[in-house]
Amino acid sequence: MKRIKENARYLEIRNEYDVAVVGGGVAGAAAAISAARNNAKVCLIERYCAIGGLATLGNVNVYLPLCDGKGNKIITGIAEEFMKLSILDGYGKIPECWLNNNFEECKRVRLKVEFNPWTFAIELEKLLIDEGVEILYDTRFSDVIKEGNKITHLIFEDKKGRFAIKSKVVVDASGDADVCVCAGEKVVSVDTNVACGWFFCFDGEKVKRYVFSQKYDHFNRQVYDLNTGFSIEQTTQQILSSRENISKIIEKMKNENSRILPVSLPSIPTFRMTRRLKGLIELEESHEKTLFSDAVGMFGDWRKSGPVYYMPFSALYAVRTSNLITAGRCISACSAWDIIRAIPVCALTGEIAGTASALLCRSKSKRFSSLDIRKLQQTLKNQGVKVDEKI
Ligand SMILES: Cc1cc2nc3c(=O)[nH]c(=O)nc-3n(C[C@H](O)[C@H](O)[C@H](O)COP(=O)(O)OP(=O)(O)OC[C@H]3O[C@@H](n4cnc5c(N)ncnc54)[C@H](O)[C@@H]3O)c2cc1C
Repeated sequence: MKRIKENARYLEIRNEYDVAVVGGGVAGAAAAISAARNNAKVCLIERYCAIGGLATLGNVNVYLPLCDGKGNKIITGIAEEFMKLSILDGYGKIPECWLNNNFEECKRVRLKVEFNPWTFAIELEKLLIDEGVEILYDTRFSDVIKEGNKITHLIFEDKKGRFAIKSKVVVDASGDADVCVCAGEKVVSVDTNVACGWFFCFDGEKVKRYVFSQKYDHFNRQVYDLNTGFSIEQTTQQILSSRENISKIIEKMKNENSRILPVSLPSIPTFRMTRRLKGLIELEESHEKTLFSDAVGMFGDWRKSGPVYYMPFSALYAVRTSNLITAGRCISACSAWDIIRAIPVCALTGEIAGTASALLCRSKSKRFSSLDIRKLQQTLKNQGVKVDEKI
């Protein structure tokens, strides 16, 4: 590989925050809102120009269940607030039985909704602004500056070039564990990605969602570099391949109905999994019903009825970096990864990470690993989160 040395330079330190959240997906939005509600000065940095990540820019518009499939609502707090926000325009509806508390029916009908991605993006953005979160769009995280085991500054790039911000605490909600890698954390990749695309078309009468999904062997562990992630060529190839297949589907539909018009294509790479933190604990499917002593939230399995999991705090925070925590699909989950990557669980881990970050800013302890777990659990409960209930 040919290389060139970049000139050393000083960077402007643009601002100082209590909490910097990298990535404005569902997890990042939940983290930023909960940190702000807990009186932290928060900045949310997003490389694209809307909030919601895969859920909005990826057109992934099914808000998977908040319940366990046995009639019990398991996920509450911001995850439930976001579900309501996503259907504010009336596009999707909460199932009647859940509104009427018809327990027998709730055992059969799961508490999930479909939503309009743009309504959700706009409502999330409004909420962030109302809560006092400073949003930086069109800004890409690129590195950290560490002193010992602590991140002191984050480096970003915008159209003017590189700049730094100072932050007491950092939430990695990039979906790809970008901050973890730069901070020297151990990361892991999973090779269950598919070439896919969720897209919307107008069929002459209404707008409908269509899904293209196909196994795509190119993106497997062998070609994925843990340090650099997917190369820009691989990402481009995934986007081009998905788009080509979507175009073919649209052409085919046009032959049957000439009024078919695409109205929204995915505008974010639709990888299900790239990298995640290797934390103190890696959540496994076999952890079902394991009530960890550091449990900070509860969630069910969107794929089947019955299982209930408790989220250990130690699956969220970094191992080598005292003031770094993850949220969303890049937390430390092994075989349970397919469960935790669902939108409501991402919102839940976002709320946990944001709340913990605000508490850390105010606590004597300066590391997540020694944060007062009782206080965190109680704060989350006060916010309406189910933490350690017996089901
Ligand atoms: C094809 C597909 C279908 C799915 N279907 C469903 C479904 O039906 N229901 C469901 O609940 N879940 C579904 N999922 C899973 C779910 O959508 C995601 O796992 C979840 O939305 C992830 O949220 P997140 O906030 O953790 O990450 P993301 O949504 O990936 O958000 C990360 C954000 O960080 C930003 N970012 C990344 N790197 C940087 C950087 N360096 N600097 C600045 N910003 C950065 C990104 O632009 C993005 O906005 C699906 C996923 C895929 C790929």
